[in-house]
Amino acid sequence: MQQEFDLLIIGGGINGAGIARDAAGRGLSVCLVEQADLASGTSSASTKMIHGGLRYLEYYEFGLVRQALKEREVLLKIAPHLIQPLRIILPILPKMRPAWLIRIGLWIYDHLGGKISLPKTSTLSLTSTPEGAALKHGPTKAFAYSDGWVDDARLVVLNAVDADKMGAKVLTNTKLTALQPDQGKWLAELTSNGNKTTCIARSVINAAGPWADKVDALACLKHAAHMVKVQGSHIVLPKLYDGEHAYLFQNPDGRVLFAIPFQGDYTLFGTTDTPITDDPSNAQLTTQETEYLLSGVSRFFKHNLSEKDIVWSYSGVRALFGDPQKSAAALSRDYELLMDDNTGTPAFLSILGGKVTTYRKLAEKAVTMVSARLGNNAEPWTETKPLPGGDFGNDSLSDLIARTQQQYPFFDKANAIRLAKAYGTLVFDIFVDAQSQDDLGVDFGCGFSEVEVRYLIKNEFASTVDDLIWRRSKIGLHLDKNQIKKLQDWLAQSSFK
Ligand SMILES: Cc1cc2nc3c(=O)[nH]c(=O)nc-3n(C[C@H](O)[C@H](O)[C@H](O)COP(=O)(O)OP(=O)(O)OC[C@H]3O[C@@H](n4cnc5c(N)ncnc54)[C@H](O)[C@@H]3O)c2cc1C
Repeated sequence: MQQEFDLLIIGGGINGAGIARDAAGRGLSVCLVEQADLASGTSSASTKMIHGGLRYLEYYEFGLVRQALKEREVLLKIAPHLIQPLRIILPILPKMRPAWLIRIGLWIYDHLGGKISLPKTSTLSLTSTPEGAALKHGPTKAFAYSDGWVDDARLVVLNAVDADKMGAKVLTNTKLTALQPDQGKWLAELTSNGNKTTCIARSVINAAGPWADKVDALACLKHAAHMVKVQGSHIVLPKLYDGEHAYLFQNPDGRVLFAIPFQGDYTLFGTTDTPITDDPSNAQLTTQETEYLLSGVSRFFKHNLSEKDIVWSYSGVRALFGDPQKSAAALSRDYELLMDDNTGTPAFLSILGGKVTTYRKLAEKAVTMVSARLGNNAEPWTETKPLPGGDFGNDSLSDLIARTQQQYPFFDKANAIRLAKAYGTLVFDIFVDAQSQDDLGVDFGCGFSEVEVRYLIKNEFASTVDDLIWRRSKIGLHLDKNQIKKLQDWLAQSSFK
């Protein structure tokens, strides 16, 4: 017999996973299908900022910035392990936006979202503080302001994990390949490893990000027809500076570039804005983007780096909407939820655009819209409910790290920090039986153990090496080829396959 769901969600990025969690918590029967791995699309390729988007004030996007700043506060509370405050240094540069204008923008940024828990803007000298040490001479003054930093891929996964806990069916490596209305419902064809199955859904949400036009087309709809696809790439470099702060640089072309501390030993640098018409699955760093980003590094930092210094890179595609004649930077980062009003047909909602930062609010609105058509009146609930592992009580992240080190003295410090940030309070469940290193099973290197890998496969929908080392963790940055091979071999032989 065909399975029937209240809601079928297409796309396991941040929006699809956030919607699945919200909808399952409101009592809907939910199926989420993702054609590859969770977060394998745009949602693991962002700059990883939980931010209002200071830059968007220039485009008078006050509504978007206000909502995103409010969400920043909410997310810092519900995912304190995955999201940490980030102090951002914004050097004042001659011939760029004047200091007074930036100061006004930052004042608005500090106040637009209402009460904030993060430190407000301050001014600092770059000649007498460590923040100026790695920078090329030129700027002498900077503003320091606050935003948040997130492990974007894990944010997606934990939403999906929570949805699963509440009864949602989460199917990775499963693609929606056909969709048609059938007796007031949707009949969906799902393809996984070449095998086709069907299911029935009373409603469908298209959360396919930059693939949304393709999914719309399956339903003979054109909501996403005017989507503009813009590729953004980041490079990872050996640490460019000491300190936990990030930089936001004003590039001469009017764009901004971020440098952010990454995975302890590295600096993340980006991003680009390259309009594309190609399949988003092919997104990868281009030669032009490499040159653009490396010249940005040498413009602002004392380092002179070349392509061979790039340790890793990743690219993602933004699905933006608006006037395609505008520059990519000028297109809105806000989202639109489009649903036919026709109550005679089964509900189909398309999501266009969006940001990681606003995913929870987007999910809330999307589920409310679809619920109204399904006759479900359950109230939104996600604003105060922590994501798995985020129930810190009165503890801070530092407290949790200290407890992790105390409980597992055989973890080295860097690993204890990594594990506490990835799993939050769940770290004590995952390693509950571990009394010594010997209890962790195979050591794949850099503290990545069999116990952790088994947990990720069993509980977090990981199935391949890439899922494990690039999305559930970023341990891929630290493992060498032999260590990755060891993991590959272990996976091939393991009973999980
Ligand atoms: C370079 C860059 C930097 C960014 N930086 C930030 C930032 O710092 N902060 C911020 O808040 N936002 C940022 N964003 C925006 C943010 O990343 C996106 O808005 C968000 O990730 C979009 O999520 P999504 O779920 O809509 O799309 P995706 O993450 O792309 O998810 C869509 C999923 O649908 C799946 N799919 C497609 N077709 C099918 C099908 N037929 N069947 C099944 N599955 C299918 C895909 O495989 C994909 O996983 C950035 C974006 C880019 C590109």
